[in-house]
Amino acid sequence: MAREEQRIAIYKSLLRAVNHPSADMVYRKIRKEYPTISFDTVNRTLLTFAEIGVIHTVESHSGVRRFDPDISPHHHMHCMQCGEIIDFCDRDLDAIAVPEAVSRQFTVLGKRVVISGLCDKCSRDQVSRESSA
Ligand SMILES: [Zn+2]
Ligand SMILES: [Zn+2]
Repeated sequence: MAREEQRIAIYKSLLRAVNHPSADMVYRKIRKEYPTISFDTVNRTLLTFAEIGVIHTVESHSGVRRFDPDISPHHHMHCMQCGEIIDFCDRDLDAIAVPEAVSRQFTVLGKRVVISGLCDKCSRDQVSRESSA
């Protein structure tokens, strides 16, 4: 399988993913279609994509690097329980001012607001656990 072909397959798989997958998640999915591909190839390709700016990386609470194919301005809700990362858009947050103390010592290239909490499913699980206890 040619390198170009692998790259395109990896990119396509990431575009279809809506859950900000980790390299491992992308690998497990793509392996079904391309059984000869290695984890190392998938991981390296994703890092290259991030480096040249066609995708973004997202740090999750567990410390595992996740990838985001959507490079337009948007923000994230992180679920502390299941690790889900959900996109949301807000014009006001896009325009948020960077404190002077930051801009003085730091060249700002992007801004993203991360809201931590529990997703719908996890908070429902918690409520039902509490009420059954
Ligand atoms: Zn959750
Ligand atoms: Zn995102």
